[in-house]
Amino acid sequence: MKLVIDVSDILKEKGFSKEFSGSQPLEDIIYQGERIGLLGPVGVSGHITNTGKLLVVDADAVAKVSLQCGRCTKRYDKELKFSFTARLSKIGDPEDPDVFLYEGEVVDLKDIILEFLLLELPMRGQCSEECKGLCPYCGCDLNVEQCQCEEKVEHQEERVVDPRLLALKKALSANGEEV
Ligand SMILES: [Zn+2]
Ligand SMILES: [Zn+2]
Repeated sequence: MKLVIDVSDILKEKGFSKEFSGSQPLEDIIYQGERIGLLGPVGVSGHITNTGKLLVVDADAVAKVSLQCGRCTKRYDKELKFSFTARLSKIGDPEDPDVFLYEGEVVDLKDIILEFLLLELPMRGQCSEECKGLCPYCGCDLNVEQCQCEEKVEHQEERVVDPRLLALKKALSANGEEV
């Protein structure tokens, strides 16, 4: 069921409210150059209230999306659970740009759900906490293979770096500190 809500009943009187639930299909999104895949419709439930001047939607949503790992570039699935509150009016108000518009006696939640879904996307998501990413030298996926680049680079450093510095560096990395 798409989330197009008939609000003719609650428009009759200020304070009227009704519950709704359904699932909203959304197309894949291109967001900041990345393709966000929607793995099925977004489940949404909540209520919509006539506050007199506005209609106010309070809802909980669950979406399953396919994202690209910011470290190893592999795609991974993630479940996003979020709540949102949206205010709707028939007339736009330039002083209040966060108000959504609706026409007639129906409210279509599609664009509203999409907008709040975008806010939930991680800035630079990772397929897992432990993702090792790609080797900065040869580009291989360090989660599945171990190249020798790091070693080669270290050997090169040994030749040019002051040995005392190198000893310090070794001691620090033995303590697990980033150097
Ligand atoms: Zn990854
Ligand atoms: Zn490498």
